[in-house]
Amino acid sequence: MDATSTRHGACLTCARPRTLDDVHSLEWSSEHAPDGTIGFRCGPCTREQLWRIEALLAPEPVAAAPVAA
Ligand SMILES: [Zn+2]
Repeated sequence: MDATSTRHGACLTCARPRTLDDVHSLEWSSEHAPDGTIGFRCGPCTREQLWRIEALLAPEPVAAAPVAA
C-alpha cells in the first residue's frame, strides 16, 4: 500500500507486514532475540507457535543422578 509496510516490522514466520493497526493489536506477540533485536509474530502464527513455546517451557525430565553403586 504505502511506505508503512516495513516500518513496524513483519511477521517472523509468514513475513506478513505489521501495520499500525497490528501495533495496537494484542494479536501480535513480540519476541526478543538474544542480540537485542525485537521481532514480531502475527496472531495466527503466534497460535501456531504456541505448542512450540509450551514444549520449550515444559519441564524436561531431569536425567537421573548417577546412583552410587
Ligand atoms: Zn505470521
